Amino acid sequence: MGSLKDALLKAGIKETQAPKSPKAQNEREKIAKKKVTEDVIYQEQRNFCEHCDQVRPDVELYKHRNPTTEAEWICVRCADQLQIADTFRKTAQSDTNIKKMFRREYGATRSPMEFKTPDKSNAPKGPVNGNR
Ligand SMILES: [Zn+2]
Repeated sequence: MGSLKDALLKAGIKETQAPKSPKAQNEREKIAKKKVTEDVIYQEQRNFCEHCDQVRPDVELYKHRNPTTEAEWICVRCADQLQIADTFRKTAQSDTNIKKMFRREYGATRSPMEFKTPDKSNAPKGPVNGNR
């Protein structure tokens, strides 16, 4: 009782907020969308098959000993054609793998559980000096 606001309300004056202009709202949405897209981009993802010279969603690194190709970043189709076993595969970084749709026709497909993200074990250990 007795506050200025109550007094004003009793007098019939209502609080009004200035409406946000539609333009300002649109701008805010654009900024938010852009930020999300940037976060989703994977760094150093390879999707170019060195054997067929094409961009493919299922390119992985194979440390194979197949003498018929120098290529190591190879798409699933080429790996199957070259008969490179999935046991030579070193990565599970392709879009197809991320979507859990990676599957070899030639031989068995390795379990995604065998591929762990290597970056954490490489992190420097020791005291944090705060001078980053
Ligand atoms: Zn290929």
